[in-house]
Amino acid sequence: MTGGPRRFLRALSRRPAPLLLAAMAAVELARLILARQPVDAVLLALLVAAGFMVARENDEAASADGARETEAESFARILRGLSRSVSPDAIVAAIVEELGAGTGADHVSVVRRRPDSRHLEAVLSPTRAGAPASRTYLPLSTLEDPAVEAAAVEMSILGAQGRRYAAVPIEPDFDGDPDLVPLGLALPRPALAAVGSRDGGGFRGAIVADAVPPAPARRPTGTGHAAPIRAGAEQRIADRIADRLRDEYGLRNVVAAPLRVDGRVEGAIVLSRRTREPWTPRARRLLTAAAFETSAALSRLYTLRDAETRAATDALTGLPNRRYFDEYLGLLARRRRADDRVGVLMIDIDRFKRLNDTYGHAVGDHVLREVAQAIAGAVREGDVPARFGGEEFVVLLRNPGSRVAIEVGERVRRAVADLDLRRFGVAKVSVSVGVAVADQPETELDEVIDEADRALYRAKQGGRDRVVAA
Ligand code: GH3
Ligand code: MG
Ligand code: MG
Repeated sequence: MTGGPRRFLRALSRRPAPLLLAAMAAVELARLILARQPVDAVLLALLVAAGFMVARENDEAASADGARETEAESFARILRGLSRSVSPDAIVAAIVEELGAGTGADHVSVVRRRPDSRHLEAVLSPTRAGAPASRTYLPLSTLEDPAVEAAAVEMSILGAQGRRYAAVPIEPDFDGDPDLVPLGLALPRPALAAVGSRDGGGFRGAIVADAVPPAPARRPTGTGHAAPIRAGAEQRIADRIADRLRDEYGLRNVVAAPLRVDGRVEGAIVLSRRTREPWTPRARRLLTAAAFETSAALSRLYTLRDAETRAATDALTGLPNRRYFDEYLGLLARRRRADDRVGVLMIDIDRFKRLNDTYGHAVGDHVLREVAQAIAGAVREGDVPARFGGEEFVVLLRNPGSRVAIEVGERVRRAVADLDLRRFGVAKVSVSVGVAVADQPETELDEVIDEADRALYRAKQGGRDRVVAA
């Protein structure tokens, strides 16, 4: 089969109904012509032509709609897929690729605070394939509302001029942020509105020139107008981040959207390019969608990580819990090599029941926490301390000699004995420690733990507050 018929069949398989109709119309047309009925034939031909035009218009409208939908959904889809399995870095990489293709940017920068980090990390990625990314760090203070700083300056100027103002609470923060209690300023220029936040014992405020008056009932007398400082703050922060990047990299034309994680601005996505022409509405739309979806994906990921950490942590002491410890042992058993040594310290608080009975359970809990911290502080970075249960702790030592294991046990014992517990009304607390080391790779880890447990028993028998090796 060649050319035309094959094309027809392929088209037929994709859109059978209209093509069958067209074929039937062609047969009918031929019949009418043969039957010498020209008026009917012309009418039928016109009908078929009109049908084709309607079908084509429908196609075009559908494909334009489709393009818009694809644009809107693509980030959501990519990120939903990614955030189930991957790291935040993979999310960011996917965003950079998608934004680079759709916005005409030369660079996409993702600026974000990693959890527990003391700075903002900015990664500037060229959209040109193969060009290397560049990384820099910004101070965390970049995430603060620039309007607050402006207010601090304004207030110091007022102060320096010897003019008086007073901060007055207006209303609780509408976002429920306890650190942010908007305050009104009784200013010498009453037309000027101001809000701010309590910062420790002090006050930092923002002069808001375009302030919206609050509801009269909430307006304290004599403070002038005030608007919550948060209004517009997120974009102000994103723009400030973009400014910092512009200074750092000599960027020319930037546009930014904030990244929010759990209701706070935690960074921004910044597009930049060399030409001065304004960003198209489509580029801005893509950027907003990308920032929104990235924020949601990072939030989901961090929530998941939090939940995992909580599940592995003992709530009272903050140490890894028994479940985590057992999992870790399983992992270690599978990965153990011939020359890996493993040591175990089993630690039990002495006469803890008596302590509870004497001082109460609450004091007992405080002491447990203190002992846990002393243990964690006495072992090395790579060792794994955990709460084994009740008032028992365990430490897994990586590659210790048996002398070293006993030394670490002794260090733990002394750290606990040296605890100053007077603020809880407790004079002293001590622990007994059992030590065991597996120097044969075939020794089961459970067996080492049993040995350490038996050594601990002997430490108790021997009078407590001591270290005994198996
Ligand atoms: P020994 O020197 O032989 O170890 O004596 P002991 O009293 O420490 O031993 P025992 O195992 O009889 O008592 C352990 C006590 O630890 C009993 C229990 O009430 C207390 N305990 C276990 N978990 C907690 C906890 O989370 N908080 C408090 N306050 N006490 C706990
Ligand atoms: Mg016990
Ligand atoms: Mg005990």
